[in-house]
Amino acid sequence: MADVKILGAGLAGCEAALWLTEQGHTVDLYEQKPHAYSPAHKQQGFAELVCSNSLKSDRLDSAAGLLKEEMRRLGSHLLPIAAQCSVAAGGALAVDRNEFSRLVTEAVEQCPNITIHRQEVTEIAPHEGITLVATGPLTQGALADSINQLTGGQKLSFYDAAAPIVIGESLDMEKVFAASRWGKGDADYLNCPFDKEGYEAFYEALISAERAPLHDFDGDGEVTVYEGCMPVEIMAKRGPDTLRFGPLKPVGLTDPNTGRRPWANVQLRRENQEGTLFNLVGFQTNLKFGEQKRVFQMIPGLENAEFARYGVMHRNTFLNSPMLLNDTLNLKEYPNVYFAGQITGFEGYMESAACGLLAARAIHARLTQKPLQKLPTNCMTGALLHYITQENKDFQPMGANMGLLPPLETRIKDKRQRYAEIANRALEALEQAIHEN
Ligand SMILES: Cc1cc2nc3c(=O)[nH]c(=O)nc-3n(C[C@H](O)[C@H](O)[C@H](O)COP(=O)(O)OP(=O)(O)OC[C@H]3O[C@@H](n4cnc5c(N)ncnc54)[C@H](O)[C@@H]3O)c2cc1C
Repeated sequence: MADVKILGAGLAGCEAALWLTEQGHTVDLYEQKPHAYSPAHKQQGFAELVCSNSLKSDRLDSAAGLLKEEMRRLGSHLLPIAAQCSVAAGGALAVDRNEFSRLVTEAVEQCPNITIHRQEVTEIAPHEGITLVATGPLTQGALADSINQLTGGQKLSFYDAAAPIVIGESLDMEKVFAASRWGKGDADYLNCPFDKEGYEAFYEALISAERAPLHDFDGDGEVTVYEGCMPVEIMAKRGPDTLRFGPLKPVGLTDPNTGRRPWANVQLRRENQEGTLFNLVGFQTNLKFGEQKRVFQMIPGLENAEFARYGVMHRNTFLNSPMLLNDTLNLKEYPNVYFAGQITGFEGYMESAACGLLAARAIHARLTQKPLQKLPTNCMTGALLHYITQENKDFQPMGANMGLLPPLETRIKDKRQRYAEIANRALEALEQAIHEN
């Protein structure tokens, strides 16, 4: 039996497995694919990105950028892989999802201290060695029941939505133009400019389009959706201008065909390095597939768009971590059972991977019987860990954001400068904690 059993070869599981083996530990890694798939997973490979291909900003003066830098300093294996297969996306780190998954799978497969078991795990044995559960937000079936048993039924769920992907060749490039907002980046986005009349017609079609039924939810007809994944049709219902001031904002763009700023603008972001696939930014949706085709083809340039994948909406399961987990990410009641990734409430791809690193550090300290130097709460990883383990009656998952970090002693007015200063403080504190370890 290996030192650690890891359930799930997603972002958190792979990050944890690669880190632990680097410290000399052995890992049994269990992955249910290709024998069983969650409703969102489609590929056999590990670390599959199920929705957007963006890992968000890589700028240090942003919350997502700070998180990544902290992960690099904590020894992330996934970030260097992401860098190898990045695609152009302005200041953000976006990846070719197939290549990313292929490279992570290869790294895990080539690691001699990891034994891969391609099988679905149905039960957690809390007294047989150390187990790290990293089965993600779509954990279901017998394993979900087993977690439920260990946690006394303290489990919650809500919904997430994914945006559709269109095929580049099927776009009308006479209408669509390449540009990044305010000329930043390398004209990385494709833009679909609406005039007022076209937008109004699209808006009416969108708010009256038919949504797909949701299964397995709590029955009052209201579904809680995390704001970053709010379906476009639900956001639109807040008012005709909500989208124009949100994901369809036209500011910083000039349509070369008219020389004017569009009335509203849909952005398309590259899905792969070749630039053959594009996702509709901000168009997470739960419309029926036929309705998506009908309504989204009203977007200028998408009249004949071919959809490589339609948007979908899925269940998202997470623990009541504040009640159940120690700040070492193991169950208070069953300390051999650790959790990592989105299932703990670390919300997002990179956050999930970061959580894998934190769990791995805690397990390493346990295995080597060395004290674990806690990460300070003024760095992003420490703040997220603190957030999910501090008392919270209305606990919801949380992604990296600057609001999690304490304010500076002296306030700096300029936001970028302020964030840069907060990031510097975070990295200094993190370095100190790592070196004390
Ligand atoms: C539909 C959807 C869309 C999302 N979109 C985004 C997005 O655009 N951007 C973003 O930042 N975050 C997004 N998230 C949130 C989150 O970042 C991702 O879910 C992320 O993949 C979570 O990483 P993870 O490692 O915790 O789990 P996962 O990446 O889901 O990995 C879990 C792994 O465990 C395996 N597994 C599950 N059950 C078992 C079992 N019983 N036995 C063995 N193996 C098992 C799965 O097959 C999978 O490979 C989305 C979530 C969902 C559900």
